Amino acid sequence: MPIDLPIWPPAWPAIEAAALATIRSGDWGSYRSAACQRLRSELAEAFAAEHARLCCSGTAAVELALRAAGVGPGDEVILAAYDYPGNFRCVELLGARPVLVDLAPESPTLAPDHLPEAASENVKAVIASHLFGQAADVARIRHHCDQRGWIFVEDACQTPGMLIDGRPAGSFGHLATLSFGGSKPLTAGSGGALLTSDRRMAARLGPLLERPSDAFPLGPLQAAVVSPQLKRLDRMNEQRRDTARFLAAELSGQTPQWQLLARDSAGVAPAFYKLAWCARSAEQRVRVVERASELGLPIGPGFRSSHRASRRRCRQPLPLERSRRLGDTLFVLDQTALLVAEPQRRELAALLQQLHDETSRLDDEISP
Ligand SMILES: *Cc1c(COP(=O)(O)O)cnc(C)c1O
Repeated sequence: MPIDLPIWPPAWPAIEAAALATIRSGDWGSYRSAACQRLRSELAEAFAAEHARLCCSGTAAVELALRAAGVGPGDEVILAAYDYPGNFRCVELLGARPVLVDLAPESPTLAPDHLPEAASENVKAVIASHLFGQAADVARIRHHCDQRGWIFVEDACQTPGMLIDGRPAGSFGHLATLSFGGSKPLTAGSGGALLTSDRRMAARLGPLLERPSDAFPLGPLQAAVVSPQLKRLDRMNEQRRDTARFLAAELSGQTPQWQLLARDSAGVAPAFYKLAWCARSAEQRVRVVERASELGLPIGPGFRSSHRASRRRCRQPLPLERSRRLGDTLFVLDQTALLVAEPQRRELAALLQQLHDETSRLDDEISP
């Protein structure tokens, strides 16, 4: 029996009501939309930012953040080899050169220790993403950036509502990015936002966005449907977090061939968009993803690692061993599974156990 997953995007009456109100008031057809203004101030408040700007995607938000940081031809931008692949592309598109560093131990996020070795006089900015519910070490990354005059772009596209030492993820970078993409915890099908409390960055975003029409707009209807999700974000995050913790406890010691990437870090209230494991091998991951689909589990491979990009395209001052391994073996359980009703959590754990056992047995036969 396949497990009963909640539908995504959510079909809440509050979302329908917000869309309808935007249509009935005529706000849907306005350049100066009240829904957009409202979402901007709600985001600024929720993310403890002086300024929130809306845009058409998380990817555009990263690109605009780099533009505001002044990144252009001849500059370098440091990021982890294992990251949302669009971030590498954004750096290249601006004519700048990615400088790849590896991941912190037991984490899918950038290793701050590697920043000094990646430094050069051409480095302008650092991008670090919070991934799979795990917080990047933003305090240390920000410290390195401040020491060297680099701009820190904090990619919080996956983790709206995560708290780090009591502060929202997205409030540590000079600029931070959010995504409202179709699968994300806050969704409008597509969309994104930029957050900053840095006057200089806010001033540079203005002319990039207002030309004089909004060049990367999030429309009023889209803005309207994000607002009710923002109101329920904490509760939804709690639900996803509870399921992640339940699975971690229930499967602890039971899935020896998988490594769960959900370490509890002091001071972090994680927000899971996807829950990640590493399989024992790339071959095992292929089997896990295939079998998961037969079992009705929403599991897919993680990101590709950029460590294979040619040295002409990027600088690689350090070994990228962890990025390579995560690129080969990481797989993710989607948030729809993390949002299952509480009584179904046990069933979900049992299915994951079955998935582990079946794909492990095969693995043992192939490479004893
Ligand atoms: C999804 C995502 C993005 C891009 O967001 P889009 O809205 O899909 O363009 C950027 N960074 C990370 C970490 C993401 O997960």
